Amino acid sequence: MLSPSPHTTPAGSTEETIAAVATPPGPGGIGIIRISGPLALPVLQRIFKPCHKKNPPAYESHHMYYGWIIDPESSLPIDEVLAVFMRAPNTYTREDVVEIQCHGSYLVLQEILSIITTNGPRLAEPGEFTKRAFLNGRLDLTQAEAVLELIEARTDVGRSLALGQLQGRLHEKVRAIQEKLLSMRAIIEVAIDFPEDEADILDPTDLQEQLRAGIEEPLAALIARAEEGKIFREGISAVILGRPNVGKSSLLNTLLEEDRALVTPIPGTTRDTIEEFVNIKGMPVRIVDTAGIRKTKEAVEEMGIQRARAKLADADLVLFMLDAAEPLTDEDLSLYSNIKECAKKQKVLLVLNKIDIAPGISPEQFRTALGNEELVAVSAKLHTGITELKDTVFSLVTGRTKGPAWDPGAALVPNVRHKDALKKGLEACRRVKHGLDVDISPDLLAIDLQSALDHLGDIVGETTTEDVLDMIFERFCIGK
Ligand code: GDP
Repeated sequence: MLSPSPHTTPAGSTEETIAAVATPPGPGGIGIIRISGPLALPVLQRIFKPCHKKNPPAYESHHMYYGWIIDPESSLPIDEVLAVFMRAPNTYTREDVVEIQCHGSYLVLQEILSIITTNGPRLAEPGEFTKRAFLNGRLDLTQAEAVLELIEARTDVGRSLALGQLQGRLHEKVRAIQEKLLSMRAIIEVAIDFPEDEADILDPTDLQEQLRAGIEEPLAALIARAEEGKIFREGISAVILGRPNVGKSSLLNTLLEEDRALVTPIPGTTRDTIEEFVNIKGMPVRIVDTAGIRKTKEAVEEMGIQRARAKLADADLVLFMLDAAEPLTDEDLSLYSNIKECAKKQKVLLVLNKIDIAPGISPEQFRTALGNEELVAVSAKLHTGITELKDTVFSLVTGRTKGPAWDPGAALVPNVRHKDALKKGLEACRRVKHGLDVDISPDLLAIDLQSALDHLGDIVGETTTEDVLDMIFERFCIGK
């Protein structure tokens, strides 16, 4: 068995050494294997034969070495590689880290990984490198989450949001509110310690003002931003409905040709309807093209229709397509009433297609017949009206005015987990406010202040429970 490097940090760490392939599966120019922990250097020294004038070299930290991976059991060469040893604490995990760059072949990577794990390290869990970076204090929890968001971002807006969070902007904001809470708590603790002077120490009007301006307002502003952030991070779902031949597939293709959003395919998802991600002004919009919702006796088709109804229920937006070249049919009307019946909370946008061959039925006539819903006239074939369509979708969903895409710039946008903790923090602050109003004892004020502090601590990971941490890190890929 190999012995750990003497200089391993963090001090006193008894962490096992972990290893994983950090690059995606499949052939590529290079593949990277990452090792983190006390055995990182000893394993490298055992399996790597450097082509170096001083052999073995002194392995300077953060220097690249060229050589061969040799299986220590068989002495057979496995691959020609570049290896770098990064000494703790200036590494991603704050532990000793080794990265081996080999040829990007699945078989080579698996062979090297297997040799590494035979020599002491174990396979890393998903997100375990980032979890160690968090546990060892290199990142706070919002930054660790931002790493995942950055990897998964589908649009530039999503990427900018993740980057801002990775740079610690949300952490700073939360820290500033925590400091205000701490200074209030300090005053209240003095009042607890010197009850005879309580009236001089506690100025309820001043405390109320500190609470309102320094704590409640910034918390409420962050909560308000979270909903918008969800739209840009996770995207929304839109379903295209309309009778056959109205141009649903053509519209989907037109949108995809113009701005496809980047998506990582999720293996194992079954698709009865066509689903694609389109980038609409920075929002990833999952568009579902269905066979339409119609009553039928045929079992198979019924199944498809059930699914279409389920998609409709999941959707945030319905694009109901009409054919401008023909007057409204009974089928259009029946579909529309079906939509209105099922889609209670969804927004509906009428998309009048084929305006390039329209015989003169005005869009107004369609609108009047269909509940005066908002309508956009397009030609999926000639790409006419597509910008207007995107603008309208954007403003319907975000409530923002039409115009340039949203640039988050320095915007701070909490995610759903943060929002939940912020809301609980705000509720605790409101209890403090109420307590000041009714003049409750400082001990009770201190309890609610501590509760607010704990909820904010959850956001940055100071007070987060192990199961929440597990839930966050298991969403990562292995090797990150
Ligand atoms: P779906 O059944 O609703 O998916 O309809 P498709 O997208 O398959 O289109 C049906 C037919 O309408 C095809 O022949 C398309 O080329 C044609 N089509 C679709 N959009 C337009 C359009 O904007 N203008 C014209 N002139 N034809 C269109």
